This record gives sequence, C-alpha cells and structure tokens, in this order.
Amino acid sequence: SKVRIYTLAKDLGVDNAKMLELLDSLGVSYKSVSSTIEEDTVELIKQILEEEGQAASADAAPAPASAPQPAPAPPEAQSAPQATATATAEREPQAPAREVPHRAPVVTIMGHVDHGKTSLLDYIRKTKVAAKEAGGITQHVGAFEAKTSKGRVVFIDTPGHEAFTTIRARGANVADIAIIVIAADDSLMPQTREAIAHAQAAKVPMLVAINKVDLPQADPERVKTDLTQLNLVPEEYGGDLIVVPVSAKTGEGVEDLLEYISLTAELEDLRADPKGDFSGVIIESRVDRQAGVLATVMVQQGTLHVGDFLVVGENYGKVKAMTDSNGGRIKEAGPSTPVQVLGFSEAPSSGEKVVSAKNEHAAREIVAQRVEGRRDAENARIQRKKTLEEMMGPLGETRTVNLILRADTQGSLEAIQGILAKKETEDVKLNVMLAGIGSPTEGDVLLASTAEATILCFNVTASGGVKKAAEQRDIEIKSFRIIYELIDEVDRLIRGNVEPVF
Ligand code: GDP
Repeated sequence: SKVRIYTLAKDLGVDNAKMLELLDSLGVSYKSVSSTIEEDTVELIKQILEEEGQAASADAAPAPASAPQPAPAPPEAQSAPQATATATAEREPQAPAREVPHRAPVVTIMGHVDHGKTSLLDYIRKTKVAAKEAGGITQHVGAFEAKTSKGRVVFIDTPGHEAFTTIRARGANVADIAIIVIAADDSLMPQTREAIAHAQAAKVPMLVAINKVDLPQADPERVKTDLTQLNLVPEEYGGDLIVVPVSAKTGEGVEDLLEYISLTAELEDLRADPKGDFSGVIIESRVDRQAGVLATVMVQQGTLHVGDFLVVGENYGKVKAMTDSNGGRIKEAGPSTPVQVLGFSEAPSSGEKVVSAKNEHAAREIVAQRVEGRRDAENARIQRKKTLEEMMGPLGETRTVNLILRADTQGSLEAIQGILAKKETEDVKLNVMLAGIGSPTEGDVLLASTAEATILCFNVTASGGVKKAAEQRDIEIKSFRIIYELIDEVDRLIRGNVEPVF
C-alpha cells in the first residue's frame, strides 16, 4: 500500500531531506514530504539504504551529498555534538569540518483580523510552554518557546504581517516559517492576501492553518478552493501547499500543525553555530520605569552571555541581566533563543541587528565607525542619481518588474491583471506581489521597499501618511482613473527594463 514520505523516513531512521534526495535520484516525483509513494518505490528505497549501510561500514565513504561547510576545519577536540548512527563514517580522517548544529525554527503567525492568530498563539502557549512557577503570569516579550515532541519551536508573539515586514524592512529576517491563519467560516480576506504576499516576498516557507473548524458553518473545502485561485495548491489537490485544519478553541489539529512545522524546519535544514560570532535581531523593546530599557533579542548565531558588550545601530550597551521568554533568569542564550536583555541605554527599534564586541573600547570603536560611515554616505548621497543599471540590474538577463496593485473593486483588479498577464515577454517578467482592494497601506510601502516594487492604484488614492511613508522610502505610488493609462505606465516600466536610456 502507499506510504507517506515522512512516515517512511521515520520508519527507516533517515531524515526527510535524505529521503527526498533518494527519491530524486530514483526519478520519483513528489510534491512534498507528506506525499505518498508506491510500495515498489518503498522496497527500492529500503534496498538502497541497506546497501548504503553495508558500504558505509565496509569502506566508510563520506557522504558526498552534504554541502561543504564554509567554516574552517576546527581543532580535533571539537566533535560533532549530535552523534548519529553513522558515527563510524564520521570519525574517518577525511570527514568534513565539524557540522554546524541544527537550530529551532522561528515561526510567525499572520492572517486576517479575527481569524484567530492570537487565539492560536494562546493555545500553543498554554499547552506547550512550561507554566511558570510563581503566579504563572509571563510578561509579553515578543516571542516564546514551545516544547513539542519534535523539539523546540519559537513563536513570534506579535501576530500580523506589520511586525514581520517592519523587521524585514530593516534588512533582517527573523522568521523561518510563516503560518497563514485562515478562518474556515470566512475564507480568504484582504489581509490574508497581504500576509501571503509578504511571506512570498520574503521567500519564507508558508503553511496554512484553517482555523475555527469547530464551527458548524466552517467550510474548509472552500478555503482550499480559494487558495487554488491564488496559485497556492493544497497537497490534496495535487499541489505542494501544506494545509492543516485546526481549532484554536478545542485544540484540534494543533498537534498536527506543530508536526508540520517541524517537518518544514527539517527540510529547510536550519543551522547555526553556538560557538560562532554572536549576532541577533531586536524583536521589540520598551522602557520600564524601574528597570530601564528592556529589549528582546533573538539570538541568530553564536551565544549571548551576561557581561557581553552589544552594539545596535549607533548605540552600545553591556548585558547586565537576561531573562528567557518564560521570565527565568539565564546567564547565556544560544541560537533561536529569544531573550530579554537589560543593559541598553536607549530603546532599540525592532528589526535592528545586534552584534557583540570584545570589550567596551571595541564597542565604542564600532559605533564611531558607524557614525562616520553614515555621515560619509549622507554626503555622497547629495543628489547622486541612481544609474539605470543600479535600478534595473544588469542588462541582457530576464528582469522582473515588481508591482503592487490597488483598486476599488475586485472586478477592476481582475481586469487589470488579465491585461497584464499578456504583457510579459521573454526578457521581462511582471510580478504582481499583491493585488488588493482599497487604498494602499503603509504595509504595502514596506513590502514595496523590500522588493523595489512600484505601487499602482486604480480609482483609489493613498492617504497622506502613506504618501509620506512612500516618499521616505523612495517608493513610487501612482494613481490612475483609466485602466489603459495604468497599463501604459506598466508598458513604460517594461520598456525601461529592456531599453537602456542614455
Ligand atoms: P486575531 O485577530 O486573528 O488575533 O483573532 P483572535 O484570536 O482575536 O480571534 C478572534 C475571535 O475568534 C475571538 O472571538 C476568538 O475567540 C474566536 N476564535 C478564534 N479561534 C477560534 C476557533 O478555533 N474556534 C472558534 N469557534 N472561535 C475562535
């Protein structure tokens, strides 16, 4: 009978990535790890693995499949922290440099208002976070760690794509996986499309949680069909989108969702070296009247210790104390750990990158360099026009014109997209990152700035605040009242991308 790929991988004791590699080598097609494969294939895989096992113990050939690590060979004393079944092979002298260990995935939850993002986070926090000893009241620090049967999963605690994109707009990427929550009684709504656009622009893998399946009027099939219309095809319809029905109220499906998160994380092969240089990102910060500045840092690489000097933007500070997301005092924190840090003199903004310095002198040095660098850049920028190449990328390659469309009705959006679909050429791709009803938002501006997109509006205009945000970020928002004028503009954008203008 048929077997799901991840089940087989589990049964045979290999990881999913390895299993997919084997299937690729056999030319077997699949959509994802939850696709099923035929019994014949299962037998074949078993045979190969058996032979490989014998070969490995016979001549201990190092597996060529893993990508070479950029890190230089470490001293022999450092052995791989995770012993595996192929320990014999790993101890061979030609074995590759010490493996960078896996790290826990960082997950963000996005979706339309009232579709249950907060409830889902609350349910996970209630059931998967060890209750705090005293009182059980944990302060909101912007992220929390859930313990699942498959290991740690870190959740960003501010649902919605605004937080996600604010962080990204500063050049940082915190989330490894995006959960798009869609209420089963409401299906796709404007902010659902926005959330999807933001995850796609960030190239963050997406899972869909269809929430509120406990409601009598829940219609998960409709959600799946609607997703298909966005070219997001659920697995059961032959696509590769993982869709998990859940209820944040009863908890139904939440365990499955966590399992799929772990599967996705495994496929992404997330790694970070706790022994490497420290770097992290600010998740959020606030000023406490008594304690002072409290900033939540997500450790991305290396290990953060009490006493370390940190530099954020043009400020530095010394870590006086750290607490984990459960409120417990800790002395050090490794990759994918959110920690609340006491010791900054000014509140850093979310999305700012954090690095460490050897001592106070070094920290000051870094800050001084940054200040100088910024001044130089400001001087140099005085009305220096971007060259065409800078704006359009090198000539002679396929280029992409990124667009965000806003219109007054679904009908006009569809009409515009219909015409645009015929405009693509071999050299120029049109990528509509987001097509939404209503005026453009600040979120659109952030999205546009991370992807260098142009915002085109039909029969809607931007508010003053949004216009200002666009100006600050050098984003063009153009409004039209006639469809063909909007199309002409797209033609100009396309031509701009194929003909050099001197
Ligand atoms: P958010 O705006 O996406 O964070 O949505 P909330 O988590 O605040 O939920 C909005 C409303 O939907 C609240 O009244 C919740 O109690 C309700 N809700 C959320 N999840 C579920 C669910 O799975 N089933 C039912 N019946 N109600 C839910």
